[in-house]
Amino acid sequence: MQHAAEPSFRESVDLMFNRAARLMDLSPGLEQKIRVCNSTYTVRFGVRLRGKIETFTGYRSVHSEHMEPVKGGIRYALSVNQDEVEALAALMTYKCALVETPFGGSKGGLCIDPRQWDEHELEQITRRFAYELIKRDLIHPAQNVPAPDMGTGEREMAWIADQYARMNTTDINAKACVTGKPPHAGGIQGRVEATGRGVQFALREFFRHPEDVAKAGLAEGLEGKRVIVQGLGNVGYHAAKFLSEEDGCKIIAVIERDGAVLDPKGLDIEALRQWMTKNGGLLAGYPGARHVPDGAAVLEEPCDILIPAALEGVIHLGNAGRIKAPLIIEAANGPITFGADAILREKGCVIIPDMYANAGGVTVSYFEWVKNLSHIRFGRMQRRAEEARSRLLVEELERLSADQHLGWTLSPDFKQKFLTGSDELALVRSGLDDTMRTAYQAMREVWHNREGVEDLRVAAYIVSISRVAATYRSKGL
Ligand code: NAD
Repeated sequence: MQHAAEPSFRESVDLMFNRAARLMDLSPGLEQKIRVCNSTYTVRFGVRLRGKIETFTGYRSVHSEHMEPVKGGIRYALSVNQDEVEALAALMTYKCALVETPFGGSKGGLCIDPRQWDEHELEQITRRFAYELIKRDLIHPAQNVPAPDMGTGEREMAWIADQYARMNTTDINAKACVTGKPPHAGGIQGRVEATGRGVQFALREFFRHPEDVAKAGLAEGLEGKRVIVQGLGNVGYHAAKFLSEEDGCKIIAVIERDGAVLDPKGLDIEALRQWMTKNGGLLAGYPGARHVPDGAAVLEEPCDILIPAALEGVIHLGNAGRIKAPLIIEAANGPITFGADAILREKGCVIIPDMYANAGGVTVSYFEWVKNLSHIRFGRMQRRAEEARSRLLVEELERLSADQHLGWTLSPDFKQKFLTGSDELALVRSGLDDTMRTAYQAMREVWHNREGVEDLRVAAYIVSISRVAATYRSKGL
């Protein structure tokens, strides 16, 4: 567990901010304006369930409104509290600036163990929470647009969207009030996988730079890298699946609530996920892999890449010194405390920071919001036109080959790929890939060239804070 002497999550984020601000030329007033959390709304509401009234506590925090709407997920967990929601809202501000999504930062949370309630009960609770936020414009297409986070997913977002539509019957942009909806309820292809896909794209981009890979002391290429993943939920599952199935990584351990499973030859992530779905989210008993009840200890096992994808504060003063991974990619928000970050840096560990690593979710949420406002699926106008132009070229090449007796043909595989126009999923993945590459390059530029910048986290903060500061300045602040 996290050391008692450590700063809270919110303080940890501020301390990381300060490391970057020290290297920047901001006026103290502007620096403070960017750092502080603008507002946090706390709501307590009752819902009649199982014959009695249950009271729930929820939060929606707005960190920065330098751009609107503000954006950030809604988390369902018993551990949710004001400090955590404010820390996560601040990270959203920096994340959105880093990946150039035109939003301020926000975050919400409800103190609840979603596994204690059945689907109908969760719907009642979610609708009531949404009602409280909607009536204060804390859910609104132009002002505040939530998304899924830990403990929530497409289902909850669909309820929120419907609740907003019921309360705003003439708002033609109602669907843009929340992202992460299922495709049949105004969502976008590729949103569910987006954060894990973004982690994969981030690692691919990191491995495109041999100089950066060398800083972690790793051999070039993702192929064969030994990976440990903590949390096989939305983010961890997709990241592990794509890295093992598409990039040749070996997932040698997965850590979950009930311990960890290990296999030095590499785990079959799809089979493991199916096992968990069948067994109430538990890993224990999974055949063909060693089960260790103390999951946290497995974070300290030797590996090439460590992917914490569950919750904050899991690498702390108490265990940072024993972490062996030379490269950590923060798929979760805030998995490394401020103190642990210093210990790891001292050891030469390279950390790809959360605000970049898990920005795939907000990036595709941005695409979904744009889709909802434009009321048309991406690719609907262009896809067949693109195919027709490609077909024209293929037919002309084949005609030339036949006319001139050149004797060559295009392979069926090439033709199939070349003649397929981009559908929504292909466009979303392309936009996400571009975003992850561009943001990495912005961070890297600062990391390698700016005096005093030792690590990617400080570089990421500098890029983000500069952009937020520029927006404030252009508003006359
Ligand atoms: P999720 O609820 O889908 O999955 C979390 C997983 O972690 C679950 O499988 C859970 O059982 C596991 N877990 C919980 N406590 C654990 C523990 N002590 N040890 C090991 N495993 C544990 O949540 P998610 O959406 O995948 O989010 C995970 C992290 O990623 C969070 O920090 C979240 O803020 C961040 N994130 C999520 C998104 C998104 O799009 N969902 C986007 C950006 C960041």
